[in-house]
Amino acid sequence: MDCVFCKIASKEIPADIVAEDVEFLVFKDINPKALVHLIIIPKTHLGPVNSLGGESKNLLGGLILKAKEAAAIVGVAENGYRLIFNVGRDAGMEIDHLHLHLLAGKLRALSKI
Ligand code: AMP
Repeated sequence: MDCVFCKIASKEIPADIVAEDVEFLVFKDINPKALVHLIIIPKTHLGPVNSLGGESKNLLGGLILKAKEAAAIVGVAENGYRLIFNVGRDAGMEIDHLHLHLLAGKLRALSKI
């Protein structure tokens, strides 16, 4: 399968890795949209949120908890961060390997957008 995040997970292409365990990988976004912009993925290929069912609920919970760990690693846990799933083309989703964005640093409150 020609999936860039699968290739990052298998180390076929390089990434700036922040955290890794058997199930998940966290790396810096190559085109950051905030001072801190991380991508959290399951190493195994799964489609985006709208393609998932109840069988994925534990994995989705683990993905969010991995993001929380990554926030502590990069030092933004206390000041705060935003977790985003882009779902579908209208949301700007480009890569269909399930991923969670972690954004931090000088974010505008959603209520002010
Ligand atoms: P999305 O728009 O939700 O599909 O997000 C995909 C994200 O992956 C974008 O923010 C890209 O900048 C990021 N991205 C694409 N290729 C790479 C890569 N090789 N290494 C790190 N981040 C990447």
